[in-house]
Amino acid sequence: MLNNAVERRGFPEINVPGKDEPADLYIPSNYVQHTLESVKPLPPIKWTLKTWYKEINWISFALLTLTPIIGVVGICTVPLQRPIAFFAVGYYFFTGLGITAGYHRLWAHRAYNAGTFLQYFFAIAGAGAAEGSIRWWCRGHRAHHRYTDTELDPYNAHRGFFYSHIGWMLIKPRRKPGVADVSDLSRAPVVRWQHKHYLFLMLFMTFIFPTIVGKLLWNDALGGYFYAGVVRLVFVHHSTFCVNSLAHWLGETPFDDKHTPRDHVITALCTIGEGYHNFHHQFPMDYRNAIKWYQYDPTKWFIWGCHKLGFASHLKVFPDNEVRKGQLTMQLKRLRETQQKLAWPTDSNDLPVISWESFQKQSETRPLILISGFIHDVSTFLDEHPGGRHLLVRFIGKEATTAFFGGVYDHSNAAHNLLAMKRVGVLSGGHPHVYDDKMIPPAQRLKIARYTELSSFSSSEDACSEHSL
Ligand SMILES: [Zn+2]
Ligand SMILES: [Zn+2]
Repeated sequence: MLNNAVERRGFPEINVPGKDEPADLYIPSNYVQHTLESVKPLPPIKWTLKTWYKEINWISFALLTLTPIIGVVGICTVPLQRPIAFFAVGYYFFTGLGITAGYHRLWAHRAYNAGTFLQYFFAIAGAGAAEGSIRWWCRGHRAHHRYTDTELDPYNAHRGFFYSHIGWMLIKPRRKPGVADVSDLSRAPVVRWQHKHYLFLMLFMTFIFPTIVGKLLWNDALGGYFYAGVVRLVFVHHSTFCVNSLAHWLGETPFDDKHTPRDHVITALCTIGEGYHNFHHQFPMDYRNAIKWYQYDPTKWFIWGCHKLGFASHLKVFPDNEVRKGQLTMQLKRLRETQQKLAWPTDSNDLPVISWESFQKQSETRPLILISGFIHDVSTFLDEHPGGRHLLVRFIGKEATTAFFGGVYDHSNAAHNLLAMKRVGVLSGGHPHVYDDKMIPPAQRLKIARYTELSSFSSSEDACSEHSL
């Protein structure tokens, strides 16, 4: 087996799993690092005249380059009849769903159970997408999820858009994908059947069947072959390839930003609903990609429909509470970034403690006002004060807490935030024991703090006032 060869080369001392055992049964706990260090990749490709052809993966290269050329020839030479156009679009969805609902969500992720009829339906439809057998496809895809964005990911997005889209199939990879267990699929009868007859099923469903349908229904074999066969195949290919390229490049990361997968409606439109890829990499066992009803996910709708008709069961849904935790984490992270871009008042621990006498003395040379135990220098604000300069001058060298909080005028949140920026000292003995709203500016009453900052909360009462509210 492919996996065992990697393991034997990298870890000669490690047991090789038996035929029916999971391929990853004996891998060491530091498998990724160990493999990257101990298994040398093939040397970088040298595009020399003598050796270039050895670097090409010729079967997929031929399939992926000839089909667009043949398709263009067909478009230029065979007129497109309206029924053939409808058939080609329908056949695109039929074979595409074989990949998205069958290969991907059913077999690669076991996101639900399908009855025998539906399994054969997907095995046959998926063969018409010419993307390899279920077993081969799922082995690569499981490695992609397990080793996302590493050298063990067969379509590592860090190697660029083109490589993750199609390049990884055109040239011989420098490394084998990381180990991924597909022993469950090796035991599944429909998967075994498809693997055994794959070449025939692929050729028949990809090219022969659409040609026969075109001939029998509309007496247009060439139209069936070119439009529903070849051109449709090119669209199915690049549509599903977008899951590895576009979905790791375009969009938002509402659930986690550790890796490259992203959510975007354009990707969803291109991939029959596989575009909410950030969600998918976080919750791969969920049968949905889109969790909101209005988001475009026909693959989910199809599986749900099969469930209602009795062809599918045990549709897995990740607990909503945990999904929302992921969303909240990302929202807090973004709010913290906004918070860190703003200037904040000087921490009370960093302000000098000033006696009443000193406060009085210094007030003779500059405009200092005492509010909530803090001494504020309002020199830059005297002429800006909306109530007039005279109201501030009145309180220089005096206690103005009551006047500020409603005694003269009940100041707004913005005024309180601005006032806190003018703190220059703390009056000795002027701090009350319990912090209240008068001491904490509104913008700091809720603050996003990392857990390491919260630990200072329990050990220091002063720090608490500034960091954790
Ligand atoms: Zn992915
Ligand atoms: Zn997946």
